[in-house]
Amino acid sequence: MENKAIAKQFKLLAQLMELHGENPFKIKSITNAVFKIDKLANPLALLSSAEISEIEGIGKGISAKISELLSTGTLQELQDLIVKTPLGVVEMLAIKGIGPKKIAVIWKDLGIDTIGELFYACNENRLIEAKGFGLKTQEEIKKAIEFSIASNGRFLYAQIEPYVTLFYNDLAISLNSVDMQAILGIAGQFRRACEIIDELILVLGTAKLEDVNRMFSEDESYTQTEEFPLVWFKTLTNGLKVRVIITTAERFQYDWFMASGSDSHVSQVLPLLPADKFNYPDESAIYEQAGLNFIPAECREGFGELEQAKTQEFPKLIELSDLKGSLHNHSTWSDGVHTLKEMALYCKSELNLEYLGICDHSKVAVYAKGLSIERVLAQHQEIDQLNSELAPFYIFKGIESDILSDGSLDYPEEILKSFDFIVASIHSPLKMDEEKATHRLIKAIENPYTTILGHPTGRLLLSRAGYPIDYKKVIEACAANDVAIEINANPLRLDLDWRWHRFALEKGVKLAINPDAHRKEGFLDMKYGVLVGRKGGLTASYNLNSYTLPELTTYFKDRKVKKGII
Ligand SMILES: [Zn+2]
Ligand SMILES: [Zn+2]
Repeated sequence: MENKAIAKQFKLLAQLMELHGENPFKIKSITNAVFKIDKLANPLALLSSAEISEIEGIGKGISAKISELLSTGTLQELQDLIVKTPLGVVEMLAIKGIGPKKIAVIWKDLGIDTIGELFYACNENRLIEAKGFGLKTQEEIKKAIEFSIASNGRFLYAQIEPYVTLFYNDLAISLNSVDMQAILGIAGQFRRACEIIDELILVLGTAKLEDVNRMFSEDESYTQTEEFPLVWFKTLTNGLKVRVIITTAERFQYDWFMASGSDSHVSQVLPLLPADKFNYPDESAIYEQAGLNFIPAECREGFGELEQAKTQEFPKLIELSDLKGSLHNHSTWSDGVHTLKEMALYCKSELNLEYLGICDHSKVAVYAKGLSIERVLAQHQEIDQLNSELAPFYIFKGIESDILSDGSLDYPEEILKSFDFIVASIHSPLKMDEEKATHRLIKAIENPYTTILGHPTGRLLLSRAGYPIDYKKVIEACAANDVAIEINANPLRLDLDWRWHRFALEKGVKLAINPDAHRKEGFLDMKYGVLVGRKGGLTASYNLNSYTLPELTTYFKDRKVKKGII
């Protein structure tokens, strides 16, 4: 075992001891030893126990531990502490910028025990209130986690988006000096707006193949991986893998099509095309040749879109400009950063929306300053006042009601009645098997006060799987009870998963693109909800917040009348 590895074990031991609040003097002596071991010129493995204990700064106790580590490969004391600590908390210790003291607060006071949950808690602004934390620490932690997620080479769409734009523009500028007519198209997962991106693929069409190829060969950051078509590969400093496929100007549309769809989509279309034709004026011509209506890039997943395109024109998919308002958002009444008025003004003036649905947390969500009954009533007064001030802009009275363990909602009926609409979500406990989770959700869906089902699985992409649910049963229950399902537009959630949108739409279930904004900028996440909605085949008419203010007002009222809860 090398000195570095030994130092690492002792560092972890010191961190865990601090995390568990052990004797500070003992911790200090271990931290000092870590520093010493790291700097030693001679390998400890070659020294005898007596020699080790004579090294300055390493006392008897620690030299015994070093010997234990060298002879057995482990440290019993370290193992004992590891067993007492959730794996996610141990993983947190590796994040730069947060020490064991802060992690202890995160774990013990906030009840957060995975990195994914910690990241989401930063998004939901939950760290600010905790002892020893502020907005600055919260932002630092968020950045550090983003970095550690990225190091696996997999990225959230939103996380990678600015890098893609930057890379595309840089490449386009370099190309200009070689071939002004070159065409550059983004393909692959990013073009399909996949929620997770492993690799960025671009297709480059040029009449000056040789010159362009030389340009890449002269850039040392690229390596050539294929001869035909020519493919250049590199890894960006943030870990994103990039492939640039170079083809002729004539073949560009065909190769772009080939590199854009998923394998399953492309392999279903290919047999419908002549084997010897590669020159098409645009992608529509390719689909036309295959006897299909044009399929938008987001939908090229091999997920039933071909069947749809065989018989009918592809429906016009939802666009950001179709959104007339935003439902499910938080303010400083619970765990948001901005006040209700600031959130409303942002929607009205910056985004030109007609309405805001405010859904602060309900009373059991104590960690998020969930609203007591008195505070619900006080908030309603403020909403009434803001509505007269900001008219014709309108704030709908909503709540994000926790779905309790037994599936019921959080307030007594007379309070539930006072809301225009209710988003029902599960926040805790999250550890459930499929049967329990499905049952709990369906019970909430059957509650006449539930208008929208919030983030159905509780997943956090790349970090928390979410509880398993029987999608079919849950969606069918929503159809039967006239409950809409949200597409939580936070790039970490994107829950309901797009793979279930088509099924929901076929059953007549409305979806709602909800940003779950906890600050003004959070509304901008609606863009990512629109992108996955498009992937799932969502049209404006099936999206609840595409309704105009009068339409949505009527929808909420009619629904209450039908349910007999007015
Ligand atoms: Zn929620
Ligand atoms: Zn929420």
